Amino acid sequence: MIVLRDVGRTYPGGVRALRDVTLSIGERELVSVVGPSGSGKSTLLHLMGTLDRPSSGAVEVRGHDISRLSDRRLSALRSEWIGFVFQQFFLTQGQPAVDNVATGLTYTGVPARERRALALAALDRVGLSHRSWHLPSELSGGERQRVAIARAIVNEPSLILADEPTGNLDSRTGAEIMRLLLDLRDSGSTVVVVTHDREVAASLPRRIEVLDGTVRLDTGLVPL
Ligand code: ADP
Repeated sequence: MIVLRDVGRTYPGGVRALRDVTLSIGERELVSVVGPSGSGKSTLLHLMGTLDRPSSGAVEVRGHDISRLSDRRLSALRSEWIGFVFQQFFLTQGQPAVDNVATGLTYTGVPARERRALALAALDRVGLSHRSWHLPSELSGGERQRVAIARAIVNEPSLILADEPTGNLDSRTGAEIMRLLLDLRDSGSTVVVVTHDREVAASLPRRIEVLDGTVRLDTGLVPL
């Protein structure tokens, strides 16, 4: 699904956020990326999600070298294959849940009249049918994150990338969100979760530990 070869990312100003990162993530894996603040986790996730390009080395998503694709091809690939979930939910306040979810279909070519039906089905998958017509301000934190996850999966992406998805939630609600991500993996998606919560990371089958822009440990690799 994702291959990184000798990847480096240096930001303008000279911050080396990542260096010499080589790893691959297969179909239907559920992986955590863990490390302290500033270690390069978000940069890594952005590269996997084609939101950014490497300064050196190569990133391949489903066999496509992202450095070789135009911005237009890249955003088409992204909207078809990848769903994003963020710590801050990023919901539009004045819109009911169903319309927030439908925005996940904006760049997909699905006709506007069909979007709500798909959005309602996605809300059903995350257990929120009964909240479909509520505004974000009427929902709990856990429910808002479910809406954000429904938006990420409404186009049935093969890859789900979550950046601190439980960071704004209490531990019980966070555990429910992690269970939902596990269900999504079980139904066929590849899921990568960035977290600084070691408990969350330990609950997943594979853990990639990042420190100072390098991979310090990858439990998915067979030790030499
Ligand atoms: P994490 O997600 O682990 O907190 P990040 O990937 O956000 O780490 O950041 C890694 C390093 O890159 C940090 O030193 C951060 O300050 C720096 N950084 C991140 N984004 C930018 C940017 N857009 N411009 C300059 N430096 C950045």
